[in-house]
Amino acid sequence: MQEQAERIRAWIASYLTAWRAAWDAASESTRAHVHTFRAEDLRAPVQFRVTLCTDPKYPFCTTALTLARDPNTPDGEVTIEIEAPDTLAQRNEYRANMLVQYFESMRQNYAPGREFEPPLLNAGVRYRAANGSFWVLPDDVSRLPIEELIAHHFREQTPHVIQPQPTFKPRHLFDLRQTREEVTFATWLESPTNVRELLWELGIRAPCWYAISLPRSMVLPGASGDFDFVAGELEFLMTNDEWRARRTRIAATYPLAAHPSRIDQDTVDEAARDGCVGWPPDPSATLVGVEVKVSKYDGTSDHLGATHENEGERIVGQLKRLRQIGSVRAALLHLIVTNPRGGWGTADQDLARAYRKLESLMPLIKHDHFGYFSAVLASVAHQDERFAGSQTRLLADPSPPTLERTTDSDEPRKRLAEALGKLPRPRDVIQPIRVCADCKTLFRAFAPSADQCGCTRRG
Ligand SMILES: [Zn+2]
Repeated sequence: MQEQAERIRAWIASYLTAWRAAWDAASESTRAHVHTFRAEDLRAPVQFRVTLCTDPKYPFCTTALTLARDPNTPDGEVTIEIEAPDTLAQRNEYRANMLVQYFESMRQNYAPGREFEPPLLNAGVRYRAANGSFWVLPDDVSRLPIEELIAHHFREQTPHVIQPQPTFKPRHLFDLRQTREEVTFATWLESPTNVRELLWELGIRAPCWYAISLPRSMVLPGASGDFDFVAGELEFLMTNDEWRARRTRIAATYPLAAHPSRIDQDTVDEAARDGCVGWPPDPSATLVGVEVKVSKYDGTSDHLGATHENEGERIVGQLKRLRQIGSVRAALLHLIVTNPRGGWGTADQDLARAYRKLESLMPLIKHDHFGYFSAVLASVAHQDERFAGSQTRLLADPSPPTLERTTDSDEPRKRLAEALGKLPRPRDVIQPIRVCADCKTLFRAFAPSADQCGCTRRG
């Protein structure tokens, strides 16, 4: 421990000397953009506090480096403390908590025998706290090569180039007529965050499939129209040991301090690509559904149109259809699109105004059995909503309750599982399914807005 403290002390002294020499030698333009590892000026008298989080059971540590500037204290003074995670956690202090959190991430990603990545120049995160900022490193700071670090901080900046805007005419959702609901919904689903939030609110965990505009007649013979959105749970065909082995292998390709959720996500993605998702779906697996309504908000007149004010009964009827096929949670998703009439600033304003308008009119349905979701897509004039604009988060008020499966849903669920079973096994953790606009058959879509299976190209 004493040895480690001495090494860190020597490292900081060398770093400070090298930094000051590089500063003296740097041009004015470089000086303007210097990234110090503290991102602060090291010319004035400075002192360092170094806190190390270590556990003898593991061959790694985390470091917090705090810079103080007290003209009455000797320049370059270093205070070093080395503590165990448990002791640091007891301090209940922001910096200590960050250190412990980093250490915990590394512990989860560590497997004996894994290779350590070389110290990365940019590894580590800077935090601003009330009593000054500090830098957390997933490593011992003395492992950073000083020459590389200085060269990295004092590099010349490359000029920022503004990309020219595409010149095609944007296709705004506000201007669509017949297909507005389906296109708006599919556009909204293009954002993975939106898909995740929708599934989360419906209580569905990945792996799963979801279908957009599924013909009702496919599941309920004789019924007309479409189910706007139906999703069903799937399962991974893996044992816990297989799962752990896969995760350990993937964790070794990440920096040790990477957040464990990134590795979890990579592991499920890879497992799905490798065909580990159980298929066809089990008819008794959890099903959920959503009916979609789209309203237009015109910021010029502050008018929210087509709010389906007298449609409450009809929507509840549609939601009851979802119950007939065995959905245990169902909700109305109310999307609002705005009139494109300016840039980002206007879009942001219209977003807020549309939402206020919506709140004064809502909820569109009040029913004990169903939820009500809403979200706004605000457009900008120069590009359509696939590329630009503002969006709110999904708001669920109320969330749908979980209901018992209806007894008459056995047959519809079997029919649905059979129809899906004809498709190839999903290769995505969240698999979109659509009906082809040309040949009207179900297909596994690579993206929610893909509405052609490729049949016309083949023919
Ligand atoms: Zn087709």
